Parts: sequence; C-alpha cells; structure tokens
Amino acid sequence: MKLGIISALHEEQEGLVEAMQGPQKAIHGMRDYWTGKLGAVDAVCVLSRIGKVAAAMTATSLVERFGVTHILFTGVAGSGDSGVKVGDIVIAESLVQHDMNASPLFPRFEVPLTGQSHFLTDVQMSARLAHAAAGFLEHDLVNAIAVEERKEFGLQAPRLHRGLIASGDQFVHQKSQLGAIRDVLPGLLAVEMEGAAVAQACFELGVPFAVVRTISDNANEDAATDFMRFVKSVAARYSYYIVRRFSQA
Ligand code: SAH
Repeated sequence: MKLGIISALHEEQEGLVEAMQGPQKAIHGMRDYWTGKLGAVDAVCVLSRIGKVAAAMTATSLVERFGVTHILFTGVAGSGDSGVKVGDIVIAESLVQHDMNASPLFPRFEVPLTGQSHFLTDVQMSARLAHAAAGFLEHDLVNAIAVEERKEFGLQAPRLHRGLIASGDQFVHQKSQLGAIRDVLPGLLAVEMEGAAVAQACFELGVPFAVVRTISDNANEDAATDFMRFVKSVAARYSYYIVRRFSQA
C-alpha cells in the first residue's frame, strides 16, 4: 500500500507531516506533496485546498504522479442530520455530489457517463478507518483534547456514524440551504466540499478510497463562526490521532 492522505485545510494537515519519518517535499500543480513514512505505511500527504475541482485534481495527481494505491481523505464537515453533533465523526459509506444536476438528460445527482450518483467507498479501508476512529474516541480523546475544550465544544461523548456524505461547491450556512439538500438525499449525515469529487476521481481511476469527517458546525447560520473555532482548536487533533491509528493498524 502507498497511501495518499488528502486534507482540505492547512489546520487539518498540521501534525500529519510532522509525524512523518523522513518527509520529502515535491511541488506539483501549486501544491506541496509530502512523501515519507507514517507509522508502518508509505504515505504522501497533501493539501487539496477547497472545492470539488481542487480535490479531484489532487486525487488524480496523487495517483498519476506519486503512484499512490489508496486514498484517505480527512477533514471537517457540516452536520447533515440533527442526530449528528459537533465533534462527532462521520465515515462515508457513499458520497454524492449534491450540486450535480444534468436532468432531464440524466437522473438528478448522476455524474453523466459514469452511471453513478452515489459513489461507494472501499469496504476494507472504511472498516479500518472506523476502527481507528472508534479507538480515538475511546482512548485518545481525553488526553488529546483538554477538559475545558471538550466543555467549550460540547464534546462530552462524541459518536461515530457511517453513511452518506454530500459534497458541493458551497459552504452550507443556512437552515433552508441544508433543508433543500436533506429533502432530496435520504440518510444524509454530513455536508462538505470535496469528498464526492475524490470519490469520482478514485472511481474512474480504480483506486480504493475512504473519507473521514469530523463535524465542525451545523451547516446553519452559525456555521462560519463554529467552523472557524473548531478548525483552529480541535480539528487537527482528530485527524492526527485517527490517521495515526489507521496507519498503525
Ligand atoms: N473560511 C474557510 C473556508 C472554509 S470552506 C477558509 O478561508 O479557509 C469549509 C471547508 O470545511 C471545506 O473544505 C468543506 O469541505 C468543510 N466544511 C465544513 N463545514 C461545512 C459546511 N457547513 N458546508 C460545506 N462545507 C463544509
């Protein structure tokens, strides 16, 4: 396995590169690709930046130029369901591009000429990721995040969820905006801006992938403020510990 690890935000990637043994930087397409070892795994860490095109391009470069065989996306997302709280972790079983709509030529959400609307993640990688995330919640969280911070963000007993994540080129920050997406995508757990684009690129290239997202906000009118605070304080530590457990497994 040569694992490509993509994060969307600088804060999310912090720590991962530091944890690498012998990281080597290569610049390609305006991005820094860090190659080295993470635990027992050969890895390449990169910041995709934000949005579907940025993410698809990054995933493609990882495969075509850096020879990765598997891709893991770690990041934050808005909650897509009232049962999914800030600080909870969502592991994607499938991903959909909620802003893809070529109807009436193709069914809504179907990516034309792929025959797919819901792209499936790799079962084995996702199981390993779920194990890593559960381990983080059970064993690492208390040490990784101070009591006061857990109080501040309401991280009393964060939970792990598995299911549908929707991606689109919009930061969802209005109740009505989220409602419109939820109404047409039953089972939705989280909204973000990259996962389903990575999913499409990996589907087309035949590369197994998995996506883990920590909930940073409720995709409502408070989303921007909540998101900024969460990303600054705690998001990086979630990613760091989950990826570390994943790469040790
Ligand atoms: N203000 C930020 C932009 C962040 S965009 C900046 O200047 O860097 C939000 C990022 O977090 C995206 O990468 C997206 O995948 C994820 N995300 C978190 N909450 C989201 C929400 N409510 N809607 C869509 N994406 C969200």
